[in-house]
Amino acid sequence: MKGLIKGLGVTWKAMTSKKVTYKYPDVPLQMPDRFRGIQHFDPDKCIVCNLCAKICPTDCITLTGKPNPDPEKKGKVIDTYDINFEICILCDLCTEVCPTEAIVMTNNFELATYSRDDLFKDMEWLNDNNELIRQENNSAMPKGGAKKNV
Ligand code: SF4
Ligand code: SF4
Repeated sequence: MKGLIKGLGVTWKAMTSKKVTYKYPDVPLQMPDRFRGIQHFDPDKCIVCNLCAKICPTDCITLTGKPNPDPEKKGKVIDTYDINFEICILCDLCTEVCPTEAIVMTNNFELATYSRDDLFKDMEWLNDNNELIRQENNSAMPKGGAKKNV
């Protein structure tokens, strides 16, 4: 009898203590502000300087530019921008070096897939990855909110 009461006490304590589990994936996880997640890329901000590709320690960024279609403007505009997340180590160097914040980190970490081919992300996918932009990239954005053309 004493053992039963003791056991019920332990059960009651566990039932009333603060929960340490999350209802993921039904409820998204809120990552820390400095979390380094999958990048968002904004083609309108990119000046095709190539710095991100040069600094990348795993050579997982591939980009090409083309002459600016506006004859009154000099320089290039981005044509293709791809990141291979098979080898990206989410080190943050590409975003640190980017002079225009065309590429920024997000709090999104969900890359699980059945095919390695799906880990090759193109410019359109990276541009659409515009939710959960890391806070320091847009202090005006509500926590966890979507970001549009910072
Ligand atoms: S986070 Fe690091 S490894 Fe990934 S693309 Fe940027 S520089 Fe390369
Ligand atoms: S993303 Fe940034 S660093 Fe990379 S080419 Fe564009 S402007 Fe340069």
